[in-house]
Amino acid sequence: MKKTFSIAIDGPAGAGKSSVAKALAKALDAMYLDTGAMYRAFGLALLRMGVDVTDPAAVAAHAGNTDISVDYVDGGQRIYIGGEDVTGAIRSPEVSAAASLTSAVPEVREEMVALQRRIAEGHNVIMDGRDIGTVVLPNATLKVYLTASAEERARRRCRELEEKGAPQPYEQVLREIEERDWRDTHREASPLKAAEDAVIVDTSDMSLDESVSALRALAEKTCG
Ligand code: C5P
Repeated sequence: MKKTFSIAIDGPAGAGKSSVAKALAKALDAMYLDTGAMYRAFGLALLRMGVDVTDPAAVAAHAGNTDISVDYVDGGQRIYIGGEDVTGAIRSPEVSAAASLTSAVPEVREEMVALQRRIAEGHNVIMDGRDIGTVVLPNATLKVYLTASAEERARRRCRELEEKGAPQPYEQVLREIEERDWRDTHREASPLKAAEDAVIVDTSDMSLDESVSALRALAEKTCG
């Protein structure tokens, strides 16, 4: 592997980005940064403050003053608001929707992108999100756009929710995924799209292990 490398993994919600990125980071001994967790923490901070997350001006007024930080405990990323560990609290459907709404505000993205670059500086890093290959790491050693059909992503999400003991109807999960896809791809500020030089990997018919192997092979080819 090259002395320092960076791998950008973008794609829609539920494509398996974080599971694949985490496994790959372990295999390549690199830092993993889940940028979605940062937008989620921001969304949660605003919900807690009672800010109307559908009002871009109200959201913009809080960009840069929510004290979001990340740390690594036993190899896993933890996320904090003002020192409070909110790693579990950011995974609710309300926070997903708040993150999707507030991340469309340009002032919020500016702050987050700066923070993401600062955290990654000087490290071998694997970052996942929506704009990593297009905005955050335009010179990434390897860019991957990981995707899967909306139906398959909804099925995976349903299984996850069931395992957590909080099942939700498939139709509702699919609708939420489609709404989030629409917002993420149609916003003006850094919409979700594959970078021109990204390798597109469709995981609809792939297991997690197969997805990790596919990316590992790409990483060994480009980062080696
Ligand atoms: O990846 P995850 O689903 O946790 O991200 C939550 C939300 O944060 C996404 O729906 C998206 O709106 C936003 N996001 C973003 N840019 C990123 C990562 C996440 O806009 N780099």
